[in-house]
Amino acid sequence: MHEWALAEAIISAAVEAAEKEKLKTVTEIKIGIGELQQIEQDIFEFALGEIIKSHGNKLKNVKISIETERSILKCKSCEHTWNFGDAKKKLDDDEAEDIHFIPEVVFVHTRCPKCGSPDFEITTGRGISIISIKGKK
Ligand SMILES: [Zn+2]
Repeated sequence: MHEWALAEAIISAAVEAAEKEKLKTVTEIKIGIGELQQIEQDIFEFALGEIIKSHGNKLKNVKISIETERSILKCKSCEHTWNFGDAKKKLDDDEAEDIHFIPEVVFVHTRCPKCGSPDFEITTGRGISIISIKGKK
């Protein structure tokens, strides 16, 4: 059910931002989902639709666009950065599947491509964010 909580959080943040900018209607909300965010996108989009309906006129004609944000990993030993998508291609299918369901597994399967260290952090592409909001005053 966390898709519903995330959708609710996104919509209330968007409405808050629209009110701050004194927008009468919101026409577009662009949402970024990190590659490492665990989410059922179908459920998320359905939840967004339902929550938008409950907000009446302000969000009546809003267009939602969702982009996938690439996840960037950074080695803590040599500071090399690399993209999660590239690292994922090197994994076999079972491992890639594990990562889809449990992002923490990335820490088990991935090594720094430069120095081989297993000690790295995820710098971007984890979680959900609002990239931009468009509206009319
Ligand atoms: Zn390294």
